Amino acid sequence: MFQSIDPATGTPGATFAELTTDELEARIARAHDAYRQWRRVPLTERAALLERIAERFEADKRRLAEIATREMGKTLASAIAEVEKCAAGFRHYAQNGPAMLEPVTIQTAAGPATTHYLPQGPVLAVMPWNFPYWQVVRFVAPTLLAGNVGLLKHASLTQGCAAAIEEAIIAAGAPAGVFQNLPIRADKVDALIADPRIVAVTLTGSEGAGMKVAESAGRALKKVVLELGGSDPFIVMPSADLGQAAQVAAKARVQNTGQSCICAKRMIVHADVYDAFLDRFCAAMRAVTTGDPMDPATDMGPLSSIEQRDTVLDQIEQLKAAGGRLLLGGEALPGRGAFMSAGVVVDVPVDHPVAQEEVFGPIAMVFRADDIDAAIALANDVPFGLGSSVWTNDTDEQARFVRDIEAGMTAVNRMLASSPEAPFGGVKRSGHGRELGPYGLHEFMNLKTVFG
Ligand code: NAP
Repeated sequence: MFQSIDPATGTPGATFAELTTDELEARIARAHDAYRQWRRVPLTERAALLERIAERFEADKRRLAEIATREMGKTLASAIAEVEKCAAGFRHYAQNGPAMLEPVTIQTAAGPATTHYLPQGPVLAVMPWNFPYWQVVRFVAPTLLAGNVGLLKHASLTQGCAAAIEEAIIAAGAPAGVFQNLPIRADKVDALIADPRIVAVTLTGSEGAGMKVAESAGRALKKVVLELGGSDPFIVMPSADLGQAAQVAAKARVQNTGQSCICAKRMIVHADVYDAFLDRFCAAMRAVTTGDPMDPATDMGPLSSIEQRDTVLDQIEQLKAAGGRLLLGGEALPGRGAFMSAGVVVDVPVDHPVAQEEVFGPIAMVFRADDIDAAIALANDVPFGLGSSVWTNDTDEQARFVRDIEAGMTAVNRMLASSPEAPFGGVKRSGHGRELGPYGLHEFMNLKTVFG
C-alpha cells in the first residue's frame, strides 16, 4: 500500500493499493492494444480530447488542488494555479499542436522528400511529487496528441494526484488504455523499460533516479528524456533595479517551499551592489510567511516530508561547519509538520559539496562576484545546467549571459517559469531532451522521411 501523509500535520491520509504483477501486465497489454487504435484516430479527435481534459481540470480544480496540498504541502493557492496551468497546457497542444505535425517538404538532389511525424507506441513517464499535476501534463498532453499512449509511474508521495489525473482523463472520454496510472514502486521501472511493448521513457526527478533510468533505457536502446535537478544561478549586476531583483529573488527561492527544479538557488551578486542587494534580499526573505498551506495568507507551506526537511537542515549544518554564515532563518519550526523558515547563507566556500548540490528547500546561498567573468564562472561552476536568471540593464552584459551561461534556459530581468509554448529542459547533469512547445511534442515521434 501507498500511504499519503499530510506534511503540514503528520496526519495519515488516503491509502492506495500497489498493482500486483498480473495487474501491471494487464495494463501494459491494454496500453499496447490501445495504441493500435489510437494512432489511427484523426488528429482533430485527439485534439478534441485534450480540450475536454482541460475542461475537466478547470471544473474540478479546487478538489484536485486540495489533494496536492494534503499530499505534498504546497499552498492551496499555488496548487490551484498549477491546475489552471495544466488546463492551459492541454489547450495549448489541442489548439496549436496539429500545426506542429504538418508534413514538411524538402528538396533533395534526388527530388522532393516529405517528412511525416508518426507516433511510436506506449511511453512510460516516471514523475516527481513537487508539481504533481503540471509535470505529468507536460508529458501526457503531447503524448496523446502525437497518437502515442501514456503510462504513469508517479512519485510514491503523490498517488492521490496520480489517481485524480487518470480519473479526469477517463471522464473526458479517453478510450480505455490511452492513459493509465501505474501505482508501483521504483524497483519495477527497470523491467518496464526493458518491456518491448514500451517504446520510450521520460523521467522528471533527481540525478540519482535519472542515472538509473538512463542506464535501463541504454540497455534497452530506447529513447529517454531526462528532466533532472538544478542549482540555478540568479545574477545581479550594478545596472539592475535592486529592489525588484531582491523581491523576485526571494519569490524565486521560496516558491513551492524551495522545492522547484528551477528555483533560484544561488544568488551571485556584483561586488559593487552586494551589500545593497543583500539588505533588500534579507528583508524580503524575512517577510516570507510560513504556515497552514490552506490559508490564502501563507507564502510557504511545509516541505513535502519530515525527511525532506531534515535533509535541508543537514545541508545548512554542513555549510555552517565549513564557514558559511546563516544570516537568518533556516530553522525547523515547532510542531508535527515539516515546516522550516526561509533562510540566507553567505560566505559559503564555492567548492563545498553542498554548494555543488541541489538544495531542495527554502535556503539561499549568496555569493559575491568582482566582475561579469567571475559571475559567469560561478554560475557555471556546478554540475547542473537547468535554468538561470540574470538582472542587468546593460545589453552587452545580457548578450554575454545568454551566450556563456551553461543552462537550458535564461530569464533576463524576470523570474524563470515554464510556459506551455516554450521548450523546457537542461544541459549537463540537469538532463537532456526538451518538454513543451513543438520540441516536446516531437521528442517521442518517428520523423519519417518519404522520398518520391
Ligand atoms: P526522485 O526521488 O528522483 O523521484 C522522481 C521519480 O523517480 C519518482 O516517481 C520516484 O519514485 C522515481 N524513482 C526514484 N528512484 C528511482 C529509480 N532508481 N528507478 C526508477 N525510478 C525511480 O525525485 P523527487 O524527490 O520526486 O523530485 C525532486 C527532484 O526532481 C529534484 O531533483 C528536482 O530538481 C527534480 N525536478 C526536475 C524538474 C525538471 O523539469 N528538470 C522538474 C521537477 C523536479 P518513488 O517516489 O516511488 O521513489
